[in-house]
Amino acid sequence: MSGRYAQETARYRELARAGQTPETMIIACCDSRAAPEAIFGSGPGELFVVRNVANLVPPYSPDGEFHSTSAALEFGVQSLKVKNIVVMGHGRCGGIKAALNPSDPLSPGDFIGKWMSLIAPAASTVNSSTMLTATERQTALERISIRFSLENLRTFPCVSILEKKERLALHGAWFDISTGELWVMNPATGDFERPEVD
Ligand SMILES: [Zn+2]
Repeated sequence: MSGRYAQETARYRELARAGQTPETMIIACCDSRAAPEAIFGSGPGELFVVRNVANLVPPYSPDGEFHSTSAALEFGVQSLKVKNIVVMGHGRCGGIKAALNPSDPLSPGDFIGKWMSLIAPAASTVNSSTMLTATERQTALERISIRFSLENLRTFPCVSILEKKERLALHGAWFDISTGELWVMNPATGDFERPEVD
């Protein structure tokens, strides 16, 4: 046994005995360059993470379909009683790029196009801004989609009730994979603010 697991054996044993009690849930992209545990430097038991293509949250729709992200959200909020939910997007997101270029799909399969259609209206609006470069459109939609997912989170009754009671806080963040900087959304303005650099 070697590496990180060996160093954290005692912590895993304790977590196995006591169960997990993470206070923060992160909704992140599947992208291998944007791993929440690495970005936040967290150890086992600290973050409850759900990852999907482009870190999207669908609206609350109890329609009997298969909703993996909604199921994870329900578990995190109602069973684990997390105190924070962070929607974390990132730069150069392939899912966002696919949403902006529907004629150039991310894959030839059956699912990504449907999934990314969640933000199709926003993608269409951003694409109509002909004064923006492709890179500017990409960054804009990455950040707009985070605000969109935060609004969708509030369509879940369990989230909106707890947020009103101030027992749950929602946050937005955007990770710049080209610099390793985490930009945090200002909840009042929706702007993403670059971290102070010493
Ligand atoms: Zn991504």
